[in-house]
Amino acid sequence: MAEPLLKLLLPDASTITRARRVLHWKALSIVAAFATGYAGVIFGHGVALKLAAGVLFVHAATAMATGIMHDANHGSFSRSKRVNSIVSYSADWLGASSHLWRQQHNVAHHHYTNIQGLDRDLEQDPFARLAPDQAWKPWHRFQYLYMWPLYGFLQVKWFLFGDINSMMRQTPEFRRAVLPKMIAGKVVHAAWALVLPMMFHTWLSVVLTYLVCSLVVGAALAVIFQVAHCVDKAEFMHEGVKLTGDAMVAHQLATTVDVASRSWVMRAYCWWLMGGLDHQVEHHLAPRVPHTAYRMMSKRVRTIAAANDIQYRVHASMAAAVASHARWLKMMGRKPVQS
Ligand SMILES: [Zn+2]
Repeated sequence: MAEPLLKLLLPDASTITRARRVLHWKALSIVAAFATGYAGVIFGHGVALKLAAGVLFVHAATAMATGIMHDANHGSFSRSKRVNSIVSYSADWLGASSHLWRQQHNVAHHHYTNIQGLDRDLEQDPFARLAPDQAWKPWHRFQYLYMWPLYGFLQVKWFLFGDINSMMRQTPEFRRAVLPKMIAGKVVHAAWALVLPMMFHTWLSVVLTYLVCSLVVGAALAVIFQVAHCVDKAEFMHEGVKLTGDAMVAHQLATTVDVASRSWVMRAYCWWLMGGLDHQVEHHLAPRVPHTAYRMMSKRVRTIAAANDIQYRVHASMAAAVASHARWLKMMGRKPVQS
């Protein structure tokens, strides 16, 4: 009997150990950049210095979400469950409940990728129509224009409404167990992001700075995740498709798209900022493997996909990826022809 495809695709144990070591050094660099940027925004003198600190801070906050929080919540940050569990609270630090993130991202999105009605990442009701089966509204005609600024509100939405809305849909047992942790996380986020800076600056300047930073981080995160799935290069599926064994590998390769970078500078920048999510195909095939192993895994994925007649999908560059998402928004915004 032929070996299951997934087994052939996964990196060996020593590659994973090496990748994890790199991930830990990378995480330290992200935390250092975050602390430096944060201190610079609050205590820096002069507009130029504050602006530079702000740029560093939004980069570090985005990298913390993609390169630390995302890995830890998948259980790939460490071999230790305990360490993953502690580090996963970086989601709460950034304003979103880690418990709800795991439910929506690890289960609803990863298992049911681009399956309409099950992948909750496709639900942007009433603002956007992201999949062919979703209901069309007249304002969707303009979604290719207005969704870009709306993406910026992703982080604020998580912090203020999204988690609370998700919590309402949970069972009473889940609510009893998770609600106090969710509230504690929001308090900690508000303490470092709003209350502490207000001790040194006016409340208005703190709120405005918070909004600008979260708009930039929210837009960056939304685009990083959208270009992998909501694009005209990916397939959209219906409930009932087979999601086990080699069929699951084929499903992830049909619904997920990587992003290539032409220069090594851009590759290094994407690697640090995007937590390896320019390799979303590899991430969807092996979410429990640290993202620092994806580049090594990529060659093997391409070879095995080609040998099995499965299309490996990749955007030629980040600009091509953004253009592909824009085309998809435009296509989904057209009024569907009634059959
Ligand atoms: Zn993931």
